[in-house]
Amino acid sequence: AAQMNLLAADIQKKVQDHPCYSEQAHHHYARMHVAVAPACNIQCNYCNRKYDCSNESRPGVVSEVLTPAQAVKKTLAVAAAIPQMSVLGIAGPGDALANPARTFSVFRELQQRAPDLKLCLSTNGLMLPEYVEQIAAANVDHVTITINCLDPDIGARIYPWIFWDHRRIRGREAAEILIAQQQKGLEMLVARGILVKVNSVMIPGINDEHLKEVSRVVRAKGAFLHNVMPLISDPAHGTFFGLAGQRGPSSEELQALQDACAGDMNMMRHCRQCRADAVGMLGEDRGDEFSMEKVEAME
Ligand code: SF4
Ligand code: SF4
Repeated sequence: AAQMNLLAADIQKKVQDHPCYSEQAHHHYARMHVAVAPACNIQCNYCNRKYDCSNESRPGVVSEVLTPAQAVKKTLAVAAAIPQMSVLGIAGPGDALANPARTFSVFRELQQRAPDLKLCLSTNGLMLPEYVEQIAAANVDHVTITINCLDPDIGARIYPWIFWDHRRIRGREAAEILIAQQQKGLEMLVARGILVKVNSVMIPGINDEHLKEVSRVVRAKGAFLHNVMPLISDPAHGTFFGLAGQRGPSSEELQALQDACAGDMNMMRHCRQCRADAVGMLGEDRGDEFSMEKVEAME
């Protein structure tokens, strides 16, 4: 029991000032994303590459891609201007781990220059097992993996291809590799004591029923939080890569699925599907106040 309490206290410390991991914290703490990761190593059918990674971000706005040096500069400027800033995340606009040199250079630099900032990253999980050591070494203590399925037949309807081992792999085989990497990465992170949030995009008629099983399995493996997000299907932003005409869920359907997944798992219900360059408290986006142009002008 003492060990359990120790564990609980440790987790408490990690979540109390992270606005995404703690519903309470989101009223008091702010987060920012820096868009330093333009490339991606898979294709999701719901992704419209013109916009931010839909794995967390609301499609529709193109983030300004920064160099690592610009990202560090911007982070320090924002942290100086917004005292509630507690978390720096890398969430796109592609995949953080498909751009490892850029991602880890930002983390390394910030570890030195802003040691109080908590670091987090989000990924589709394909390269996760390879980078768990580096993630731990960089003191990243929160990782979000987007896991949409465990069944490769469902996966084949969501992911047309992955880029793996220097070649493009398609269909069921691609989904099988991606799913295996995600699950392995999840287990390795939990074993290292890194908090894991799982994001799932609810796609009606494709993975909606299946997400209940996803929730059970990731919970059993030690994911701390499950965040079921609606597919955002907005005809104004053009067709999605391979889901043309696919509708998103209604808010009733989303809530019913979140309730069904809940059990004793922490469900995130306050996610705002932020942009890859979001700045501020959840629900407010002050990204425009801190464009690179404005940051440069602050000096
Ligand atoms: Fe797009 Fe999927 Fe890559 Fe995100 S992980 S950038 S949604 S293809
Ligand atoms: Fe948090 Fe959701 Fe925004 Fe990511 S997209 S920073 S999980 S609120």
